[in-house]
Amino acid sequence: MKPITDYSDEALRSLLRELQVQYKEAQAQNLKLNMARGKPAASQLDLSAPLLRTMENYTLADGTDARNYGILEGIIECRTLFGDLLGIDPEQIIIGGNASLNLMFDTISFLCLFGTGGCEPWLYHKHNDTPVKFLCPVPGYDRHFTICEELGIEMIPVPLNEDGPDMDTVKKLVKEDPLIKGIWCVPLHSNPQGVCYSDQIVEELAAMETAADDFRIFWDNAYGVHHIYEEVPLKDILTECAKAGNPDRPYYFFSTSKISFPGSGIALVASSTANITEFKKHMSAQTIGHDKLNQLRHVQFFKTPENIRNHMKKLADEIRPKFDIVLSKLGDSLKGSGLASWSNPKGGYFISLDTLSGCAARTVQLAREAGVTLTGAGATYPYGKDPKDSNIRIAPTYPVTAELEKAMDIFIICVKIAGIEKILG
Ligand code: PLP
Repeated sequence: MKPITDYSDEALRSLLRELQVQYKEAQAQNLKLNMARGKPAASQLDLSAPLLRTMENYTLADGTDARNYGILEGIIECRTLFGDLLGIDPEQIIIGGNASLNLMFDTISFLCLFGTGGCEPWLYHKHNDTPVKFLCPVPGYDRHFTICEELGIEMIPVPLNEDGPDMDTVKKLVKEDPLIKGIWCVPLHSNPQGVCYSDQIVEELAAMETAADDFRIFWDNAYGVHHIYEEVPLKDILTECAKAGNPDRPYYFFSTSKISFPGSGIALVASSTANITEFKKHMSAQTIGHDKLNQLRHVQFFKTPENIRNHMKKLADEIRPKFDIVLSKLGDSLKGSGLASWSNPKGGYFISLDTLSGCAARTVQLAREAGVTLTGAGATYPYGKDPKDSNIRIAPTYPVTAELEKAMDIFIICVKIAGIEKILG
């Protein structure tokens, strides 16, 4: 498409009429297509199906029967497997339940309720009408924002650049305000743009001066081994923080939701010895231990970090054609038009698209009315408020390719209609 600025009003009106005809044709098909959530397709889940084979051996290396109560921090076999995969000392790891989001919520809830290292519990500030605040690089993951909202934590959006959060903004804010207690980070293949943090950003986050002694980095490495087009290295935040004299600053989260089964995988939190000791104390009031049989199933299935990496290559082969479809359709139909720009992720689960300012909600509405469900406009911003109303998250993994192609064709018509409507006023 030629640049939208090259069209006269008359030509735009004629183009809009053509698009409206195509839109009506799409509506008449009564489709039900979904590009809303980052869910693996059945073909991806099938690759882990052997994990569900009947277990023949439940005895751990030290002779413990995994079927019984106990081992709060998770079995050493599992902590070692994922520790080796991520380069983390197994002693610094707790394996939790079936989802990392749960560990994130618990970690922050514990800090709200009990505080850390002798600092006031974060809820204390809320009760004094000075709620604590988190920095939220945007666009970001809606469920991080929901945790903050639920716990009464104020969110401050900060720009997410191509190599990580805008550190001039971050460093200034955390140095000045002792109520800023945290920052959300998805350091590899971020949701939704696929941003990967540079070494320099990791070092600066680890070493920056913060007014709050209990400032914490919530390092959600959800897509840490989820490379699709290119393997991207990541500097280790735990090591960098320890080197900078801030060993207690990071909480590192990871899960197998997009490796084995979402909702039935395993999740981990890793941090300093002091933080892990605190966390275990609180967790011991919550549970006697998480699902060791699932931990053991994962160990018996994957066995080695190399096998996990190979499994991720097979998953990438499943996902790549879907990313190719989205990126080539956007390129063919919208490149150079000036109606949208989009990310070119190297991995992860999403593609992020920016419409013209003020067009995201309208685009999502048009798509919905033509049978294509997208993540709600605004979801990628705290409080669901995208100040420019322009960001839309595309999740290509769940539909089969034929459906994805149809959904993208309709979506592109909607982006164009919303943009032209806006220009024509
Ligand atoms: N973190 C990020 C950045 C995600 O995108 C997702 C899922 O989309 C999750 C966490 C959810 O992970 P889990 O299933 O381990 O709770």
